[in-house]
Amino acid sequence: MIKKEKTMIGITSYGTYIPRLRLDRMAIFQSMGWFAPAIMMVAQGERSMCNWDEDSITMAVAAARDCLIAKDKKSVDALYLASTTLPFADRQNAGIISTALNLRDDIVTTDFTASQRVGTTAVVTALDAIKGGERKNILVAAADRRETKSAYFYEMWYGDGAAALMLGNEDVIAEYKGSYSLSYDFADHYRGRLNKYDYVWEERWARDEGYSKIIPQAIQGVLDQANLKIDQIDTLVYPCFFKAEHKKIAKKLGAKPEQVMDNLHEVCGETGCAHALVMLTSALEKAKPGQRIIVAGFGQGCNAILFEITDNITKLAPRSGFDGAVNNKQSIDNYPKFMKFRDIIETEMGIRAEAPTQIAMTTLWRKRKMILGLMGGKCRECGTQQFPKMDICVNPNCNAHHSQDDHEFADIPAKINSYTGDLLAVSIDPPHKYGMVQFEGGGRFMADFTDCDLEDLQVGLPVQMVFRRRLEDKDRGFSGYFWKAMPVPGASEILNRIKFDDQVAIITGAGGGLGKIYALELAKRGAKVVVNDLGGSRDGTGGGSSSAADVVVNEIKDLGGDAVANYDNVATVEGGENIVKSAIDAFGRVDIVINNAGILRDKSFTKMTPENWKAVLDVHLNGAYHVTRPAFTHMKEQGYGRIIMTTSAAGLYGNFGQTNYSAAKLALVGLMNTLKIEGAKYNIKINTVAPLAASRLTEDIMPPDLFAKMKPEFVSPMVLYLASDKCDESGAIFNAGMGYYNRASFYTGPGIELSKGKEPPTPEDIKANWDAINEMDGAKEISDANAAIVALISPPDPKPKKAAAADEAAPEASSLTPKDVFNMMPDQFKKDASAGVDVVFQYSISGSDGGDWYVTVKDQTCDVQAGKADQATCTLKMKDSDFVDMISGKLNPMQAFTSGKLAISGDVMKSQLIEKLFSMK
Ligand code: NAD
Repeated sequence: MIKKEKTMIGITSYGTYIPRLRLDRMAIFQSMGWFAPAIMMVAQGERSMCNWDEDSITMAVAAARDCLIAKDKKSVDALYLASTTLPFADRQNAGIISTALNLRDDIVTTDFTASQRVGTTAVVTALDAIKGGERKNILVAAADRRETKSAYFYEMWYGDGAAALMLGNEDVIAEYKGSYSLSYDFADHYRGRLNKYDYVWEERWARDEGYSKIIPQAIQGVLDQANLKIDQIDTLVYPCFFKAEHKKIAKKLGAKPEQVMDNLHEVCGETGCAHALVMLTSALEKAKPGQRIIVAGFGQGCNAILFEITDNITKLAPRSGFDGAVNNKQSIDNYPKFMKFRDIIETEMGIRAEAPTQIAMTTLWRKRKMILGLMGGKCRECGTQQFPKMDICVNPNCNAHHSQDDHEFADIPAKINSYTGDLLAVSIDPPHKYGMVQFEGGGRFMADFTDCDLEDLQVGLPVQMVFRRRLEDKDRGFSGYFWKAMPVPGASEILNRIKFDDQVAIITGAGGGLGKIYALELAKRGAKVVVNDLGGSRDGTGGGSSSAADVVVNEIKDLGGDAVANYDNVATVEGGENIVKSAIDAFGRVDIVINNAGILRDKSFTKMTPENWKAVLDVHLNGAYHVTRPAFTHMKEQGYGRIIMTTSAAGLYGNFGQTNYSAAKLALVGLMNTLKIEGAKYNIKINTVAPLAASRLTEDIMPPDLFAKMKPEFVSPMVLYLASDKCDESGAIFNAGMGYYNRASFYTGPGIELSKGKEPPTPEDIKANWDAINEMDGAKEISDANAAIVALISPPDPKPKKAAAADEAAPEASSLTPKDVFNMMPDQFKKDASAGVDVVFQYSISGSDGGDWYVTVKDQTCDVQAGKADQATCTLKMKDSDFVDMISGKLNPMQAFTSGKLAISGDVMKSQLIEKLFSMK
């Protein structure tokens, strides 16, 4: 007799969905800590939260779509939906999902509900059906969006999410090796038929009698059944939001901490009956062939299921999975928004919201494929796609009748054609965002946009279709669903990436130092580059070496970029013209000029020879003129250009021994000031950078430790932005170095009028009014010389005497600074209160008196240092004035914390020791 080989069954695919919104748990505490201070204990990390248009059905659809990637939907024989938070008590929820996914009509669909363990129950039931040969492929989706009352531990512990598993007997990635189920009517919590919230019994009892007894019993059960020992299991997956209990269960089973899958509290919270499967999908992502996983789902008993990973796991098509879902996030700290989205608070929605929302079941039935399945049509005569499907093809050259086959649009890539933000339309998350979406290959659709802010939207942005709640008819208890467009995660970054494709950049002095980095970075982002350098020494002598520019050109070419070298001297008219000619000859245009070439000839003023004076002005100032002038002609013609001047702190603010250099460097600002006006109507933007970077020009000026930090790579991002078409700024000066950036500008004071009729004032009048003339309070930036004249002849009215007197009478602010406080701290240290304490408090104080300090308390000593600690127990962030108020007793620490004036990260509980350890008042 031929022995029939046992067919392998198990998991054939998986998918995960975690809503994009994550609520910082500290925001719950900050809003509600005054009422429930104890929730601080679990206020770490973020919990996932549904957008207002998401629920268990939409999340299950999203997870199922992730799971169905590269799978044939038509092979699905059954769909099991598990959830305890289903929108319909009597209308099969799984049926909505099946229609949304466009699964076959002749399949079994059913809802599993009423227990936290239904996610795993649905999996066991599906595996049994497959084992029995009744069905080949069963899709199981589990999702939950549980509600709790506000300011409750469970509000912190819970999160929203979904997972889906395809179970079957082909291409199995995790083989089913057996399961063990326990069924107890252990009601640690329950939700009555008419209740919105769970009723929860004493926590300690749930932990001791429930989690820590029932989960180990089920896991041991499946181990015994499979004749395995705990050390033969690679990953144990069992949700348990009690952190200590989660560890204890492993200990009880004799498992090592590294065998236990994290409960995901910090990243999303517990996602109800879906959580065992969410954790399982995360475990599958990391699993290697041959490894064994046990997944256990607790809730009035427990199911423990054993899987063994197969080689097929390496062949699974890429998907979002757990990692993709958890990393696609928007963190928020707006707790009222969370409450509004979950209907915990009622807000006035306006009269427009009262418009009837009743849905005709007849229409929904007739148009179910279009509404729930986003099914459009494709003409079999000409191939034109259209949504919605119609009787006549929209292609004017075809117009065939009844020629359209069903065509699914949900997975077709699309882009935004137009969009708007409507503040008048009713919206739970205003403004209501909608617009026209264009599908790849044809077809358009007026869509609502979701999971985005208005600022995220732009024409051309890739979007993907998502199944969401469109309306809620509260009177009749009906949730209506439709498809919306959501920006593709990461697409806007790609679209907004600063690129220089097809642009030509000239960089003078690009053979080394800053210029070389600009050239390389521009080339990496697509620019064709003219690398100019005459290859001289630091003082400009000994020019004529082509090697500096050649080395950079070769580096660019090695990176796959395009560049030519030019060895001309910027200090001559012909040199400038030749440099621009190189660009035109090699690439046909010039879009960017970075005037960067420079030399130094430092001498104190009396020793500043005319030769040194002239040489420096020739390279910096005249050099910029020589190159920019011919380039400007081309830029004007093409109606586009970006020019960067390079100034220096020496020119902006002065530096001993650099009169020639300072004069030349500030003269470049003058050149920019007028050029910005002449270039404005041709879209030529011109800006100036004052860099701070390690190069041969600065090697003997800067202290060595600072020199090491001054990488030119910290200057180039600013220069590249100013050189890009994304930059709308013109005529501005920016300091840039070591990761710090600021703008420098000329400000003009308000001034005073001193003319006496037609008579000019006397020098004595000037002296007498010196304070008003010299006043910079109320100073303004001035756009051009004409505006300066207007500003000069229209000074403000002199300050009314009364106001001035009131100003003087204002009380003096506290003279204590944060630095004083930290100096005093060791004296305020209470040694006796510090026994056994080993902590490092990091303070990050903002404001003009701010800075970083850290306080180390160890072995009953206290050490206070300025700067950042290597490893801090917790970090306290505050404004200087609030900090001083708090220390001097004017601001209560708890109030400071709950109002957001004090932010604490790290081990928040340890921060409470500060009051115990120091007597500061
Ligand atoms: P660098 O000496 O490394 O680079 C300057 C380059 O210009 C050199 O490769 C040199 O060969 C080239 N050059 C000099 N004269 C030339 C000429 N006549 N024609 C063509 N090329 C010529 O110095 P760097 O620090 O990279 O300086 C770049 C620019 O930044 C300069 O304008 C400098 O004044 C300015 N700057 C630098 C700093 C800084 O901290 N490094 C600070 C302020 C301003």
